[in-house]
Amino acid sequence: MADKTQVSVVIPVYNEEANLPALIDRLIPVIRGLGKSFEIILIDDGSSDNSLALLKEYSQQEQIKIVELTRNYGQHAAILAGFSVCSGDIVITMDADLQNPPEEIPRLIQVMEEGSYDVVGTIRKGRRDSFLRILPSKLVNMVARKITGVSMNDWGCMLRAYRRPVVERMIECHEHATFIPALATVFGKRITEIEVGHEERHGGKSNYPLGKLINLQFDLVASFSDFPIKLIMYGGILMSFLGVCFGAVLAIARLAYGAIWAAEGVFTLFAILFVFVGLQFFALGVIGEYIGRIYLEVRKRPEYVIEHIHAKSS
Ligand code: UDP
Ligand code: MG
Repeated sequence: MADKTQVSVVIPVYNEEANLPALIDRLIPVIRGLGKSFEIILIDDGSSDNSLALLKEYSQQEQIKIVELTRNYGQHAAILAGFSVCSGDIVITMDADLQNPPEEIPRLIQVMEEGSYDVVGTIRKGRRDSFLRILPSKLVNMVARKITGVSMNDWGCMLRAYRRPVVERMIECHEHATFIPALATVFGKRITEIEVGHEERHGGKSNYPLGKLINLQFDLVASFSDFPIKLIMYGGILMSFLGVCFGAVLAIARLAYGAIWAAEGVFTLFAILFVFVGLQFFALGVIGEYIGRIYLEVRKRPEYVIEHIHAKSS
């Protein structure tokens, strides 16, 4: 029987045909250099380009396993699918676009082993992304720090190392719309962060247009806290208080200046009404977001469906 796998590298792939050859070329020597038994698990997250065909070729190599999902489930679900088939004691996640340099993996493992950490996160040093991409993630990092109470500096960087028990517990919680680095903080006790380099995307373009990005950030906030709904609640209380005060002012003015003055005020009231109706809709939207999640959980649909696992047949 083969030795137990010590290190698994889990990489989600969505339309990355331009990056896969360089990724494998750089990754394999680095992992071999560790002198540990390893496996590389690449998850095809419903790519529509040539990625899957390339991946199938790689699956002929001994230590490479390909997980083919039935459609695009998103980066985090794809990573979970990878977790479900990996067997390493230490599990590394990273992006396929080479923004996370594979050369940093040995240091990640070294820090984990020396400090016996459960999770080693990373902070992107000299981040090579556009301003529009960095600003929202700065905001999210701030909010995530507040709501999880874990003082991680960079939640978005996927180059991370997890110990087996943390990974197993993450697989067990059948959560939709999850955010792996945040979920890991629930299960990992000893957590640290190290600085790693960050590179430009090797090829292709980011799979996160603004809309998808906002969705992902909302996943992080809404899946891990009820902060948005509290915000609406307190906002609502404040608004109604102001509304009552304003109504009182109007009533007094009506008594003091008579009905003619009040008739002209009708439009003001309309304006106020619109503000409130708008707010109600906003509040309903947020509540709807939570109800949507309850619906998803109740349905218990699988987070992902694996079509096939490609590995060299022995
Ligand atoms: N990815 C995925 N499914 C998706 C979107 C992205 O598996 O629906 C993968 C993608 O192939 C890459 C990683 O997630 O390996 C990060 O994606 P990307 O580089 O587009 O994100 P960014 O670096 O802009 O945050
Ligand atoms: Mg990227």
